[in-house]
Amino acid sequence: MKKESIEQANELNIKKEEDLSKWYNQVLQVSELIDKRYIVKGCYVWLPYGYKAIMKIKKIWDKLFQEAGIQETYFPLLVPVEYAKQNDQWFNGFKEEAFWVKGYNKEKADYILRPTGEPAMYPMFALWTRTKNDLPIRIYETVSSFRHETKHTIPLIRDREITVWHEIHTVHATKEEAEKEVELHIKLNNQIWENLCLEPLRVKKPQWECFPGAVGAIEYYSIIPNGKAMENGSLNNLGQAYAKKFNIKFKDEQGKENYAWQVCTGNGARLLAALILIHGDDKGLIMPPKIAPIQVVLTPIFNKDNKNKVLKKADELNELLKKENIRAHLDNREIPVGKKFYNWEIKGIPIRIELGLKEIENNKITLANRLTSEKTQIKEDNLIKEISIMLDSIHNSLYENCKRLNKKLTKEALSLKEVENIIKDKKMAKVSWCGSNKCWDKIKKITDGIELFGTDLKQSKGKCIICKENSNEIGYVANTY
Ligand SMILES: [Zn+2]
Repeated sequence: MKKESIEQANELNIKKEEDLSKWYNQVLQVSELIDKRYIVKGCYVWLPYGYKAIMKIKKIWDKLFQEAGIQETYFPLLVPVEYAKQNDQWFNGFKEEAFWVKGYNKEKADYILRPTGEPAMYPMFALWTRTKNDLPIRIYETVSSFRHETKHTIPLIRDREITVWHEIHTVHATKEEAEKEVELHIKLNNQIWENLCLEPLRVKKPQWECFPGAVGAIEYYSIIPNGKAMENGSLNNLGQAYAKKFNIKFKDEQGKENYAWQVCTGNGARLLAALILIHGDDKGLIMPPKIAPIQVVLTPIFNKDNKNKVLKKADELNELLKKENIRAHLDNREIPVGKKFYNWEIKGIPIRIELGLKEIENNKITLANRLTSEKTQIKEDNLIKEISIMLDSIHNSLYENCKRLNKKLTKEALSLKEVENIIKDKKMAKVSWCGSNKCWDKIKKITDGIELFGTDLKQSKGKCIICKENSNEIGYVANTY
């Protein structure tokens, strides 16, 4: 088995602005989120710190989905080829990307590894759906999906095993109910993104880029500081297109058979990738407080003589913070304090408490803010209050920073030349588009890698950048991941 050589970084020595991709790869390793040295291309190991972070994000969607009445399920990893073939168009699009599985000594592969949930779930939906009373079905699963990507793989962004991927699938008796479900999924997604202090760009796909027969799709994008757009989740109103392929039918009150209406939504670890790329800085990660596995790290500063006293106090404060449901960690290792600071800065812990003998004697505590690098001295009695205020302030500032960055990275272009210049300047272009297939294709293929990847949810009057006809759509053009 061959694996391309991988540099194992021991320290973060690249500035984010100098080379975002190298910086990203170093941060992933040095902050101990993942280990990319696993021998299979496009697969990596989640390390405990990284796994805690992604599980914190999963907990957010678990709570939101379940409170909305969408229940968690699990479908098998092995998908029979005959199931997958039920949707021939889908199958033809996916077959070359799929991992094919066969038993020992078997000539033919009978299964593929789940590339998406549809081919495993929808044949079961057909069994479950008999009458109107069986609907709606509203479920989700959080699983790995598999694509035998031949292109360059990027951890958490383009993997062969796409880990911690959630997909909601719902089945409804009416079009209106399905539309309501779409509205709900938009709200749920907004809340997930808000928790991560990220503002997504939501775009529509033109009809010809959606699955034939589907009503429409909204895709989420993150605008990355290098001006590239990263697809980050999608929300599909499938109409009756899949129901017709998978024979998902129900009898109404009059005994008449109808095809069901379906919605599906999915996203996963790319959310973590986006927050690393958007929030991180030259010192490493910056974890949004709501998903930070550790929100406050206590770094006692002690010597041989005062060790016991300082550690005792640090221990007390650690317990106090935990009692108040603040995720705290006490670093009582006997290593140079500078090394401790460096370690926790790379991991992006929002607040560091510095505690030495002098502070203890004065009933004072020093808080260091990871985002601003500022240190504040507070009274010990105000600890919980001040920590809560600081966590909120970091959350709000990160969210505002992302919004500001999105504005800074988006520029309007009135000609193709301007589009090219904007992209050369590592930004994303916003253009007027008439809505025609022909002009879409022309914009889409300006140069390699650049594409018109979607249009704004709101319409706006202008002149098409290609044909100069009156236009209603605003299209976004960028290099994409
Ligand atoms: Zn046009």
